[in-house]
Amino acid sequence: MSTIARVEAFVVSQPLRRPFHFSQWGFDRRAVCLVRVTTDDGRHGWGEGYGPADVVRAGVEFFAPHVLGGDPLRTGALWQRMHARGLDFGRRGVLLAALSAIDIALWDLKGKILGAPVHVLLGGKRRDAVAVYATGMYFDDEPDLAARLAAEAAGYAAQGFRAVKMKVGLGVETDAAHVRAVRAALGPRVKLMIDSNHAFGLREALDLVRRVEQHDIAWFEEPLSPDDYEGYRELRRRSAIPIAAGECEYGVAGFHQLFGADAVDIAQPDICACGGLTEVQRIAALARAHHVALTPHCWGTGIGFAVGLHFLATIDVLPGRRHPPEPFLEMDRTENALRDELTPPRFEARDGAVTVPDAPGLGIDVDLRRLADFSTGARSR
Ligand SMILES: [Mg+2]
Repeated sequence: MSTIARVEAFVVSQPLRRPFHFSQWGFDRRAVCLVRVTTDDGRHGWGEGYGPADVVRAGVEFFAPHVLGGDPLRTGALWQRMHARGLDFGRRGVLLAALSAIDIALWDLKGKILGAPVHVLLGGKRRDAVAVYATGMYFDDEPDLAARLAAEAAGYAAQGFRAVKMKVGLGVETDAAHVRAVRAALGPRVKLMIDSNHAFGLREALDLVRRVEQHDIAWFEEPLSPDDYEGYRELRRRSAIPIAAGECEYGVAGFHQLFGADAVDIAQPDICACGGLTEVQRIAALARAHHVALTPHCWGTGIGFAVGLHFLATIDVLPGRRHPPEPFLEMDRTENALRDELTPPRFEARDGAVTVPDAPGLGIDVDLRRLADFSTGARSR
């Protein structure tokens, strides 16, 4: 039997050539904490945490002693051991992102030990390729931002994406003008989603819904503060546009609160933050019981994207029919060398879908030379 001999956290970072912003703050670099778990017989698995990279690394260092020496096949038992040690201090938030990173690395490792892709361990594929939507249309200082956003959206449609998501949250009038321009550029057949990253109160969110509902918006993501469960309930009741949220929600208990409030039509757990592959299965079961659709948030490297592919490959679309709609995985298209270069070959969308890897584990590996290039220093326990 293999035992876990090493847990390493790597913070990788890369400045952006073209900084961008969204409704809350700006980015001038991308940074993420990756995790490698290695066994005493030299096998390894990779994971990733979503959140402030240095804080995630501190969380990984906190959890590492509780998995060292353990059996890497016992992913559920190791998850519970870590969760029990973190519960008093971090029921939600970045400590769960650190737990997620280790959990994902353990699933990758388990798949490699057993010679099975993660989607087989999760119950088997329902589909060989996962439909993706392009996330982009962030803000910059371009004087004619509406035209720039419209051109970017048209570019994704030309690449074959059948759905795109744009940022809103600058203010309802500006947002409505941007949505109008993007919809005009896309034409009627490409799905369009909007995401405010919790920029609004209830009245402003309702105002924006009424201004843009004519443009066939597939969902309005994070219209309100993630703490405003009552606001979400009211907005969802009054909105003609489906409501989506969940990237700021953690653990099955967090999603229990979200679903209990009738807050969303679409749940968006980030698998690299909500508790990893172990916990997202519980969240998916809960979503199923509440008749809520699931479309994971995904905004990291190829590791996190591969996790999303394996997981969404195994999701049933309910209530089901002969030709059901496909579940969507988020495919971030903003500048990110970490995503494009750390896990070659990079994932490519063909006709709006990405093929699910069939190699053992997550079916990817990290280019150690590029890891060293991007690394701000590895620490191991
Ligand atoms: Mg979002």
